[in-house]
Amino acid sequence: MIEEVRPGHERHAGASAEPGAGELSPFQAVNRFFDQAADHLHLGDDLRAVLGSSYRELRVQIPLRMDDGSGRVFTGYRVQHNGARGPFKGGIRYHPAADLDEVRALAALMTWKTAVVDVPFGGAKGGVICDPLTMSRAELQKLTRGYLRMIDHVIGEKRDIPAPDVNTDAQTMAWIMDAYSARHGYSPAIVTGKPVELGGCLGRAAATGRGLVYCLAEAARSLQLDLEGATVAVQGFGNVGSWFARLVGGLGCKVVAVSDVGGGVYDGRGLSILAVQEHARHAGTVAVSPGTEPISNAELLELDVDVLVPAALSRVVNETNATAVRASVLLEAANHPVSFGADQVLTDRGVTVIPDILANAGGVTVSYFEWTQNLQQFRWDESRVNDELRKTMSTAWRRVHERSVRDNVSLRLAAFATAVEAVATAEQLRGYI
Ligand code: NAD
Repeated sequence: MIEEVRPGHERHAGASAEPGAGELSPFQAVNRFFDQAADHLHLGDDLRAVLGSSYRELRVQIPLRMDDGSGRVFTGYRVQHNGARGPFKGGIRYHPAADLDEVRALAALMTWKTAVVDVPFGGAKGGVICDPLTMSRAELQKLTRGYLRMIDHVIGEKRDIPAPDVNTDAQTMAWIMDAYSARHGYSPAIVTGKPVELGGCLGRAAATGRGLVYCLAEAARSLQLDLEGATVAVQGFGNVGSWFARLVGGLGCKVVAVSDVGGGVYDGRGLSILAVQEHARHAGTVAVSPGTEPISNAELLELDVDVLVPAALSRVVNETNATAVRASVLLEAANHPVSFGADQVLTDRGVTVIPDILANAGGVTVSYFEWTQNLQQFRWDESRVNDELRKTMSTAWRRVHERSVRDNVSLRLAAFATAVEAVATAEQLRGYI
């Protein structure tokens, strides 16, 4: 069964609870930032209605024969939020709590993120409700091919280009590329985040963490922050957090705390990130890394550091702990790590919040480089990838910072205004509205 879902009329299929009174759903929360920008730009109601909802939302059924012979039916989604500036672009997550509203929120963030860094993509996101930790590799491959079959008619190299997200990886993308190519002919540009052997881009794994470092360096230049010896705490030590922690030392900063789902570690003199990484490789968590003090995830967010980097989950800084944040800069590595209410509190307290749609856009930027290389059947070396990434992040930072100074607004409002204006202009030029 394939079903187009009218935005706002879905049945919630995931484990996430319906928002209670006063509590915003993920999409409502992201749209508060959009609404602020729309007010700031005096956007008309017609454009607000178009940009404030999804272009297309697809719910699909994926029947699967499991290894033990039993039959199961999984539910998947693909939300295409806006494609005025180019093909839809966004990751696919496999999670027991994958939820249409959350997928919709993340799709919208992709629209704004691609616009802020000015890569010619729109925004999309996909999800499948499943628990990949309890599934075999063969089952995951069948699930991926089944999902692809059901969304095949809405994706394409110049239509919608998926990528990895939570619990999906380069192998998942290889299966999608293979399944899509079997139907349409050799199509490496159908997904990004592929294995390098199949046309993946050199430097893609580090790109989001590296982009965060480039963004912080630009922020320090513009805001006259001295990063030499500056202290940094990073929550989340996965792809993004660990690469950022490894690379930020290049700016003269010292990382004094990192954490993951298993707990955190602290050393006021600066952690050896390579030693922590080596420990985590064996232990499965950074916790109890030799020569460090333990610290909880909640304590890490309230450390007296110069730069706080949430790189794990959404809304970890919220109304309950925003007043306890002591960092002077909050660099958003995760998507939507600061709730709308907390954002107001931090801004009022003079904390510089560098917003997700700008700060963590390095990943989608290098995905764009991968896509262009695939379309041209040409490979860049890694130094070219990193140089182009630095240029893109620097330009995006300057545009957002200049607007924030000119309009006397926060970096987040400046970033959203920049993005919304670009997408609105594309909508009008195309004659959609
Ligand atoms: P990942 O799965 O590689 O790592 C996630 C990390 O968060 C892990 O260290 C995990 O242990 C930790 N974590 C999970 N639950 C936690 C909890 N309850 N408390 C503390 N830590 C917890 O994911 P990633 O690719 O590094 O992505 C991290 C964040 O960055 C996500 O919000 C993601 O959407 C966002 N993001 C990722 C990319 C990318 O290119 N990977 C790009 C943009 C944004």
